[in-house]
Amino acid sequence: MNKGILVVVSGFSGAGKGTVMKALLEKYDNYALSVSVTTRNPRPGETEGKEYFFRTREEFGKLIEEDALIEYAQYVENFYGTPRAYVEQQLAAGKDVILEIEIQGAMKVKEKLPEALLVFITPPSMEELKKRLIGRGTETMDVIQSRIARAHEEAQGMEDYDYLVLNDQLEECVERMHQIIQSEHYRMSRNQEFIQKIKGEIL
Ligand code: 5GP
Repeated sequence: MNKGILVVVSGFSGAGKGTVMKALLEKYDNYALSVSVTTRNPRPGETEGKEYFFRTREEFGKLIEEDALIEYAQYVENFYGTPRAYVEQQLAAGKDVILEIEIQGAMKVKEKLPEALLVFITPPSMEELKKRLIGRGTETMDVIQSRIARAHEEAQGMEDYDYLVLNDQLEECVERMHQIIQSEHYRMSRNQEFIQKIKGEIL
């Protein structure tokens, strides 16, 4: 069985990554979404183990010590990290595993696992992003301001990603993501085993 692809998805806060990923998982069954650990408080409607595993700073520190996280980063004032075990199991089972993480974490993954596929999702404009952040109504104006400031920083790193995906229409965005990931399976470098096998058969 082919190993799955590790897909790192980033984008400005409010770009709609969460909605796109949820729709992608609902539509196709070859994807697994990694649930991260965070030290931030749950937003209304968020539940333990679904959006995140909510942990104290102390518990988060322990996970780092145990090397139980593939990567972790501080975002605004909280820590976020990707649990290793689930990702490794799902990749081995042939699933394409999606990490919805911010840019520092994405760069760490790229360094450790160069075969990861990095996708950056963006809204059509900054104006649209601000509208979405304010419209979400779950954050204070202060937090919104720091997230916009962070967007400026993240924009500097966009070019280190492999693909840019515009989130204008949800359905179209989901299809773009799906096509990009599925095309990646045909990349020569991901098919070394088959290449060696068929070359061997010629002789
Ligand atoms: P939020 O608080 O809005 O849920 O997430 C804030 C940011 O943290 C988002 O950009 C989100 O993608 C990112 N994030 C979520 N989980 C992880 C993780 O495990 N690692 C890293 N590096 N970033 C994460």
